[in-house]
This record gives sequence, structure tokens and C-alpha cells, in this order.
Amino acid sequence: MSTKDWLEKDYYKVLGVSADAKPEEIKKAFRKLARQYHPDQNKHNPEAEEKFKEISEANSVLSDAEKRKEYDEARRLFGGGGFRFPRGGQGGVNPEDLFVNVNSSGDSGLGDLFGNLFGGGGAQRRSGRGPRRGADIEGEVTIDFADALAGAMVSMQTTSEVACDTCHGTGARPGTQPTVCRACQGSGMQTSNSGGMFQISEPCRECRGRGMIVTDPCPTCAGSGRGKSRRTMQVRIPAGVTDGQRIRIKGKGGAGENSGAAGDLYVMVHVRPHSVFGRKGDHLTVTVPVTFVEAALGADISVPTLDDGPVRLRIPAGTPNGRTFRVKGRGVKTRTGSGDLLASVEAQVPTHLSEEARAALQAYAARVAGPDPRAAMLGGS
Ligand SMILES: [Zn+2]
Ligand SMILES: [Zn+2]
Repeated sequence: MSTKDWLEKDYYKVLGVSADAKPEEIKKAFRKLARQYHPDQNKHNPEAEEKFKEISEANSVLSDAEKRKEYDEARRLFGGGGFRFPRGGQGGVNPEDLFVNVNSSGDSGLGDLFGNLFGGGGAQRRSGRGPRRGADIEGEVTIDFADALAGAMVSMQTTSEVACDTCHGTGARPGTQPTVCRACQGSGMQTSNSGGMFQISEPCRECRGRGMIVTDPCPTCAGSGRGKSRRTMQVRIPAGVTDGQRIRIKGKGGAGENSGAAGDLYVMVHVRPHSVFGRKGDHLTVTVPVTFVEAALGADISVPTLDDGPVRLRIPAGTPNGRTFRVKGRGVKTRTGSGDLLASVEAQVPTHLSEEARAALQAYAARVAGPDPRAAMLGGS
């Protein structure tokens, strides 16, 4: 019994019951009709014989809960004058299921769906359609340095692939229907004999694994069946993210089907650099200019912090350029505590000197005249 039969025949009508008839009703209707058209009662009556066959066929499908479910599904999808993919809760068709996985394994997405419907009765890979997880969505967001440390609520726009609105994902011009691919009988897979002992199964070339052929393509999606859905959502970026980090937000992706879980949202976070501070893990870094004299003589200097006022930092006499001082607990606040502030000093060289300053420096140079500081690297004395 082929799916084509299923689509053409209305077994409910044959048995004279409604589509939501209970098993008992179906049983009763079948018995009544079977008695009426039984060959024993209708000898040499081909019409009655035909009718009896029809009733039996209808009964064999509708009295079997599993088969009835598949029959209903097939008719829901392809019957009623409009081929339509199932629409999930709020999210509609799961695009991942429909398009992405079809060719990869032949055991998921459309391959699975059609495999079940068109599998020729024997294929019982999965009965009915179980819950399907929604698709994962990718997004990108740029946040301020301080927001990356403290966490922030950001509004972001995501684009996800969904079924085309115009054709509901069939790819066919509204009013027309895709036809079951003849090359693969709708399975989406073709098995070819390479001439040797091996059989090769690959996605059907005629329908590119979809199992259906679109002859009159939908003008909106040019037959692909795919559309884009844009939505804006509020996303909580956790405290402590770093630039270039990809975070996963559970359940914010595409909606699932048949009470399947929603997919996840993956957000690539870009962090705008701060004009003063940098970051090294849980530590904040800052470069602090000091004068040549402060570095040489030592000084108490003010160092900025990110979230509070400046702190006093004592640098000792003879501090080399670039030395880093640690200010405890003034770094990135974390759940377990806080990082430190790493302040590196950068000695400034005066560019403009007054006459007095120049004279003082010359006097200083004369006082400290010693060995050439480059002697070692010049090799020689
Ligand atoms: Zn095909
Ligand atoms: Zn379309």
C-alpha cells in the first residue's frame, strides 16, 4: 500500500465515520459494512467485491493505531488541497530539521519524516514524530568594557532560518503542490549499484534529498522553502565576559516542535576597549605615567580604579620604568572574590625645559657621571 493510495483515498469516508471516530465506532462501522458487502452475500457481484476490498483496506489502516496515526499525518501534510509542513507551537517549522540535516545522514530532518511516511510500510524507524529540539541561533553583540565586567542586559537582533511565509516551506507557488519525487519515491535517498559488490546510498539527485519536486516555484523564496525571521530579544550577558567570547544562552534559540526543547542562542561578544583600563583575566591593568624624578626619588601617586575613586600608591625610590605594582582587590569582581589592579609605571621624559631646569639637569649629569650604560652591549670598554 503506497502513500499515494493514502492520499487519494479517504478511509474515513469509506467506512462512513468521522475523522475523530473512536476505535469502537470504526470497528462497528466496519462490521456493518463487511456484512453488507461480504462476497458470500454478493456472489458474482464485482461491484460489491470491489467495495469489500475497499472497506477491508480502510479498516486495516484505521483499526491499527500506529498506521492510523501515519495515515492522518500523511493526509494532514499532503492532503486537503494544500501541501503543508506541520506548524509547530509559536516557532513554526524547525528550519534545522527541514533543511540542514537532510543530506548529512539521511536519518534526520525530512529524511526521517518522509522516511516514515513513504517508507513502504516496513520502515518502522520511529513511530510518529517525537519531540524535536529547536534550532540553535547565532548572534553578535558589542558591549562596553564596564558592562563586560558587571554583566548587562542587551537588546539584540537575531536572524534565524524558518520556513518561507508564502509557501509554508514547501517551495511551491501557493495554490500548487510539490509532487513526490519519482526518482526516489519520496525517500530522498537513492541507492545505486556501482557495478561491484557495493551499494551506494546517497541523497537523491532529482530532488536533492527533499523527496519532493517543485515544478512551480514559490516567488518569495524561489523554491527553496526557506525564509528568514528576524527578532529582537533581551539577552542577559553574564558578568566577566571577555572580548571574543562565545556564550551560550540556553533555550533562547528556535522553538521546538511537539513539546521539544527550544534551541540555544549563541552570542559572540565583542567588548569595546576602555580608554584607561585593560584586562588580564580577573585583573585590571592600567598604565600610570610618572615623572623621571618620581621614579628616581620615590613618590606617593594617585592611581585610578574602575568603580571607585583613585587609590594612593607608594612607589619606592629607584623604581625602574615599566615596573608593575599590585593594588589588591581592585580588579574584576567575581563570584569568588575580586582580582587585583595591576598598575605599571611609565616614566615620562620632559620635552620642554626651562633654563633653570636645564641647568639643574646638567649639574645632575656632571654629578652622576659614571660608566657608559651601553658599554656591555657595544662590547668593549
Ligand atoms: Zn528524489
Ligand atoms: Zn516560499
